[in-house]
Amino acid sequence: MSERDDLLLDLREHARFFAELTAIGPARTAGAAPKGAREEPGAVETLESIRSFIGDCQRCKLSQGRKNIVFGQGNPRAQLMFVGEAPGADEDEQGLAFVGRAGQLLTKIIEAIGLTREQVFIANVLKCRPPQNRNPEPDEIGACQPFLERQIDVVRPKVLVGLGKFGGQWLLKTAEPISKIRGRLGDYKGIKVMPTYHPAFLLRNPAAKKEVWEDMKVVRSILGE
Ligand code: URA
Repeated sequence: MSERDDLLLDLREHARFFAELTAIGPARTAGAAPKGAREEPGAVETLESIRSFIGDCQRCKLSQGRKNIVFGQGNPRAQLMFVGEAPGADEDEQGLAFVGRAGQLLTKIIEAIGLTREQVFIANVLKCRPPQNRNPEPDEIGACQPFLERQIDVVRPKVLVGLGKFGGQWLLKTAEPISKIRGRLGDYKGIKVMPTYHPAFLLRNPAAKKEVWEDMKVVRSILGE
């Protein structure tokens, strides 16, 4: 390999590293990949390239009412990744996942196991807010599915925490109720999955925090292995 090739490779590695360190927030439409386009074969997938593939997404009906696409944010090399349901009003406004009241509680849950929000990655099953925060519909989940799959493939955490019915069922590919799957470790493509109650549920049912704490202690011990 020539010195020039060597230098080019080095520069490419650096570019990838800095792209991954960049905070990925509100929707950016500039430079978006054309609808249906994929990256060049053999290109290295990054969170940036997934975000650019999503573009100014119009793949489902939620695009009509959203203000911002909520891609998810955090450490691209996180050991722990959370999967929630869908953005609410605050998230839609700011383009960031879990920044409202439920998000503040999620921050406390993360800190309770000795981590910070910056150390973990947080995403949702849906990237756009459903009207009046209604439940995600099957066509919307299907349209958004490849993006979350690719995010998980890139971050490749040690543990995934599924928050609530939608996060838990999506990761475990099950229709069982959250009351049944909660606290039972499962598997997503070889990654350990802990389904637990959603922080919004905890705001209405504070007594259920006890179970979430039990689940998070299991998560902490896996992270420490
Ligand atoms: N609820 C979710 O499931 N996700 C968010 O980002 C905010 C609230």
